[in-house]
Amino acid sequence: SMAKINRALLSVSDKTGLAELGKALSARGVELVSTGGTARTLREAGLDVRDVSDLTGFPEMMDGRVKTLHPKVHGGLLALRDNDKHRAAMAAHDIGAIDLVVVNLYPFEATVAKGADRAEIIENIDIGGPSMVRSAAKNHGSVTILTDPADYGALVEEMEANDGATSDAFRIRMAGKAYARTAAYDAAIASWFAFGDAFTNPLGPEALQATPFPATMPLAFHRADTLRYGENPHQQAAIYVPQVTSGGVPQARQLQGKALSYNNLNDADAALELVAEFTGQAPAVVIVKHANPCGVAQGGSLLEAWEAALQCDSVSAFGGIVAVNTELDAATAEAIAEIFTEVVIAPKVSEAAREVFAKKKNLRLLECGTLPDPRRGGFAMKTIAGGMLIQSRDDGAVSAEDLRVVTKRAPSEQELKDCLFAWTVARHVKSNAIVYARDGATAGIGAGQMNRRDSARIAAIKAREAAETYGWEEPRTKGSAVASDAFFPFADGLLAAAEAGASAVIQPGGSIRDEEVIAAADEGGLAMVFTGMRHFRH
Ligand code: 5GP
Repeated sequence: SMAKINRALLSVSDKTGLAELGKALSARGVELVSTGGTARTLREAGLDVRDVSDLTGFPEMMDGRVKTLHPKVHGGLLALRDNDKHRAAMAAHDIGAIDLVVVNLYPFEATVAKGADRAEIIENIDIGGPSMVRSAAKNHGSVTILTDPADYGALVEEMEANDGATSDAFRIRMAGKAYARTAAYDAAIASWFAFGDAFTNPLGPEALQATPFPATMPLAFHRADTLRYGENPHQQAAIYVPQVTSGGVPQARQLQGKALSYNNLNDADAALELVAEFTGQAPAVVIVKHANPCGVAQGGSLLEAWEAALQCDSVSAFGGIVAVNTELDAATAEAIAEIFTEVVIAPKVSEAAREVFAKKKNLRLLECGTLPDPRRGGFAMKTIAGGMLIQSRDDGAVSAEDLRVVTKRAPSEQELKDCLFAWTVARHVKSNAIVYARDGATAGIGAGQMNRRDSARIAAIKAREAAETYGWEEPRTKGSAVASDAFFPFADGLLAAAEAGASAVIQPGGSIRDEEVIAAADEGGLAMVFTGMRHFRH
């Protein structure tokens, strides 16, 4: 049924579109009731407004903490219009019906994001606003609730089409949106209590460290975009981002190309997270396919790094996602543009490089500014049937000092460098991961196999194919370092690597058969180091 609007209560922090809405309501003969700053804005627009303090008979007090928290407001919102007892109560207490509520809340999220102090953050926890939103939305049978200035136009259209009333469908839709808003708002507040900035958080840094997982996980994400479809065309998808973020692919600026798909976003993230490992180091290029790197290289120039990365697996690089760790120049752009590439992401793209890509209209070019910190904290989530798994990010790292040499032969300086490079790449490869690297470039990557020996063999096959493609005398696995994301449970994986020509091995160690694996390495004259840290990635 239709619900006529005779009286509106407006109380908004964000005054966008307020005057226009006030005028449209006023022109339809709607009585406007409002709180301090909102009333001022409406009056400045030349409108007649009744102060909420006049309606409640109470002044707004305590610095605005108590403005609309009053039975004359909440009775007017919650009373069932067709219920005799409710009507009798309204009459007995002189409560007038309120038919429309327009509220947007104190900017809590923005206050946290701008780095305000604790007192200011707490003052921006809106109490009266969400209360009115919840009361109005509960009584959506008669009351219209608006929480977003983007909906003001739709309300005016509704009223025009329905002689000053709103339809059930409209009120229901707006009520759902209103509860989503208060839920997200409270989640943002709870998130701040649970994990907020240690300096403003009421619990302080020690308590935050001690209890990283609250009993209820408040997740305050908002939809940044809807996507054409999900991983497959029959799936629907959207992207959500938290209010406060250190930045990643969703925050990057798209300079050209088609809209990013679900898979593009997922792959670009994998590429960016890996290339970020080389922040501030020599030019590095990562090529990703289906969330796994298929070529990674670091070298003298970005162009050289691109060529070396491509040579690792040029077949897979077709339709790939490319990330670089430094400004993308025209020469590298020319080389990338020679093969079909879905996405290119760089901290910065030179003007000349942009011109190169302009010819490839569909290629999605992203500029992300700074690279995300690979050692940052935070959470990783995954849904399973009946629940959700949350873990702290895999932010662990090993450096040369953490390595333990377990073989008779210690790795040479170059082998050690290649070991660490291969290890860095391996942690970004789906398990079981085996990565061969030589001279700062991957020579073969084996990903996502159900046993480690197969990963080692697949990586070696790719290296042999690359040698055939480029006419090399021998595959680049010859004299390479090989990284394994988890320990070799048997010697067979290591033997497969040795057969491919690897001369150095980096792996976590810790298998009950370590002795057997070490003996096999010694027998083959390989140098092997243990990291003591595993990097499963599923
Ligand atoms: P105004 O600018 O009109 O003075 O204030 C508008 C803001 O006050 C809105 O964001 C609204 O949600 C909030 N608000 C309305 N009533 C109350 C109340 O009783 N207590 C508190 N803390 N905030 C309120």
